[in-house]
Amino acid sequence: MARTTDRHVVIVGASLAGTRAAQGLRTLGYAGPITLIGGEKELPYDRPPLSKHLLASDWSDEVIEGNRLMTPAELDELAIEVRLGTAAVALNPVTKAVTLSDGSSVAYDVLIIATGAAARPSPWNPSSGVLQLRTLDDSRAISARLALKEHVVIVGGGFIGTEIAAAALKAGCPVTVVDPVAEPMARLVGPEIASILVELHLRNGAQTRFGVGVTDIQGEEGALTVVLDDGTRLEASTAVVGIGSIPSTSWLVGSGLTINNGVLTDPFLRAVGADDIYAIGDVAQWPHPGRGTDHRAEHWTNASDQARYVATAITGGEVQPYT
Ligand SMILES: Cc1cc2nc3c(=O)[nH]c(=O)nc-3n(C[C@H](O)[C@H](O)[C@H](O)COP(=O)(O)OP(=O)(O)OC[C@H]3O[C@@H](n4cnc5c(N)ncnc54)[C@H](O)[C@@H]3O)c2cc1C
Repeated sequence: MARTTDRHVVIVGASLAGTRAAQGLRTLGYAGPITLIGGEKELPYDRPPLSKHLLASDWSDEVIEGNRLMTPAELDELAIEVRLGTAAVALNPVTKAVTLSDGSSVAYDVLIIATGAAARPSPWNPSSGVLQLRTLDDSRAISARLALKEHVVIVGGGFIGTEIAAAALKAGCPVTVVDPVAEPMARLVGPEIASILVELHLRNGAQTRFGVGVTDIQGEEGALTVVLDDGTRLEASTAVVGIGSIPSTSWLVGSGLTINNGVLTDPFLRAVGADDIYAIGDVAQWPHPGRGTDHRAEHWTNASDQARYVATAITGGEVQPYT
């Protein structure tokens, strides 16, 4: 086996978990080669601001660069080879190689899977006008629509839907939030806080249609009709569909890894049956000791913590089962 410092660590997914893992390895003294592979062309950026202050920003270079997780100078300084705009399309754990969308192949000694999650696709797809939010470009597109101050229907009353609603109201748009669940936030924050949040939205002027599903979205950008299952037809300029996310694992089909709502790992975040492959962040499903079940978290803090944890494990530090 190669000495620790000669091993090639390949990280697939150049966002929070991936960049924090690379930074963590260097901080802990790992001097071997690190390759960071990202499907997006963008330098790594932070996602929480996409549904918050960026929606109301002027999208200046200063704002965008201020939201980066790593600058080109830092990547240089840390000697991290970055391959952006090339998604991983296949993994062969036997030959220890990742195939990229440009047809090239990258060999690894240790692989970190940090491909996160994507917005659950909208089931309603008129020719235009239905937007979703996961990437910088998505946020920019929504922000441009909010600037028109026209009616926005938001499908999904979870965290992201309500944050977009708040930004849309602040921008001066009439807003309706639709969710088939009567108390959509209750499953996330409990019934008491959920009702406070609904109150807050109502007070700020949003209409809510909770407990009513969407059956169709028709028309086009600027002239949409959102059809509800009680027969109501809501006219809207823009619809934003925020109905959750799904872990990005399609590139692992055929790899032999166990995929079950994410990459299933052992308690040490190693992919089940593959000790040289770790999965971290939104894509990882691990046996949570406290909960007694497999668990996948979509939280900023968890992605950062898991990145630091695997950096420690890879550099030979002592680790306990990840909680
Ligand atoms: C709008 C929004 C607001 C949020 N707000 C909060 C908040 O307030 N608080 C909080 O705790 N969390 C929040 N989150 C969640 C938080 O951002 C995520 O938990 C965090 O980004 C997870 O990081 P990650 O690196 O695991 O995954 P991601 O951020 O999803 O990054 C995965 C990266 O991998 C890339 N990728 C995917 N497939 C491939 C492939 N095959 N090859 C190469 N690259 C690939 C993706 O393009 C992406 O860049 C928010 C998320 C969003 C979208």
